[in-house]
Amino acid sequence: MNPSARFSCFAGCDEHYALDEVVYRCRRCGALLDVTHDLDALRARSAAAWIDLFDRRWMRTAWPYGSGVWGKLEWVYPGIAHDSIVSFAEGGSNLLRADRYGRSIGVEDLWVKQCGNSHTGSFKDLGMTVLVSAVREMVRRGRGVRAVACASTGDTSAALAAYCAAAGVPALVLLPRDKVSVAQLLQPLANGATVLSLDTDFDGCMRVVKQITDDGSIYLANSMNSLRIEGQKTVAIEIVQQLDWSVPDWVVIPGGNLGNIYALGRGFQMMKDLGLIARMPRLCVAQAARANPLYRAFKSGWDRYEPITAQRTAASAIQIGDPVSIDRAIRVLKATDGVVEEASEDELSDAVARADRTGMYNCPHTGVALAAVEKLARAGTIERGQRVVVVSTAHGLKFTEFKRAYHTGALDGATARHDNRPIELPADVDAVRRALDARL
Ligand SMILES: *Cc1c(COP(=O)(O)O)cnc(C)c1O
Ligand SMILES: [Zn+2]
Repeated sequence: MNPSARFSCFAGCDEHYALDEVVYRCRRCGALLDVTHDLDALRARSAAAWIDLFDRRWMRTAWPYGSGVWGKLEWVYPGIAHDSIVSFAEGGSNLLRADRYGRSIGVEDLWVKQCGNSHTGSFKDLGMTVLVSAVREMVRRGRGVRAVACASTGDTSAALAAYCAAAGVPALVLLPRDKVSVAQLLQPLANGATVLSLDTDFDGCMRVVKQITDDGSIYLANSMNSLRIEGQKTVAIEIVQQLDWSVPDWVVIPGGNLGNIYALGRGFQMMKDLGLIARMPRLCVAQAARANPLYRAFKSGWDRYEPITAQRTAASAIQIGDPVSIDRAIRVLKATDGVVEEASEDELSDAVARADRTGMYNCPHTGVALAAVEKLARAGTIERGQRVVVVSTAHGLKFTEFKRAYHTGALDGATARHDNRPIELPADVDAVRRALDARL
């Protein structure tokens, strides 16, 4: 067995490039690229044998297979030298049963894939380990790059900075000023990246970084780069693996630039092509109502897509009006009988607060997905008894300003119905007793 992979044109041109080439789009038609695998070579191992192999590697020590991403190395970047791999043991995040919250919203079989429980606190680590490892592989094969760059709403930049720091490669990140959390700004600063804070939004940063990386000497790390998709698609495989190789009925994911929904679809499709699963789940992209270009396209019956100017939302990582992977997302949703749902600031923050009351600690993007589940369940689109997995994309601790605004009743566009504040008292036992009696 000799698995191999290459870039191929998403739109179907007969164009293919090696994975160590600096190329993001089809040179003939300009479409994005897919990483395509030699499935026949992978079929030399049976579905049962892949399952056995993946289970034996899961969360163990042998380098680099203990990483959730690199445990699936042959499906991700076959042939990469182990020495090129830059890994923080990403992946393998917990899939938690959201029992009490699920029952409260009438979805009894609800699970949350905690992708934020990762090195830099978001699912972006899954893609970035592949991209930065690929850069090291390029350097090893004699193709140097001066730096790796990305535009970001805060999580891509944190991941890029950390993996580049581990690899000893210069990182350059472009952030929209005042539109990322304090934690997200500090992460790349601490990891020594060059941080450019621009007076624009994410879409504006994206336009600049595309031009900066134009001549190929600076490598582009945004999700239009399909190498990231290869790492992120392992979330689909992990979900199925953690459900003892069974397929949920629904997977709900918050979407902005829409690379992750495409990755999810690719992961499920690859498992189906190789016989590990027999059917696809239905997929749902959840968008903030203030940044909902995909939702609008869905509502038009996939008739019309128009970029919009995204408005400020607490779900800042998905505040994107002109998603680069729009065509990819629409293709995946059509293929999986998928839907798009939206959530207002009030709906997303209320869902976060109620879910937090059951012990979770959700980021606002996860709140968008939870609100979408609630709406789909109310509408009967998600049927009673169906198994639903929500992809939680980042750790709540990165979004302290959001939590504080909610719990002090100061969150824009939202009414705090489940706010909770500290009771400030003198250090006096009687005063404490009185306060407890009033509360319990
Ligand atoms: C990047 C990100 C998203 C959106 O992912 P896309 O691939 O851009 O759709 C959602 N949530 C969080 C926390 C993110 O960092
Ligand atoms: Zn093409």
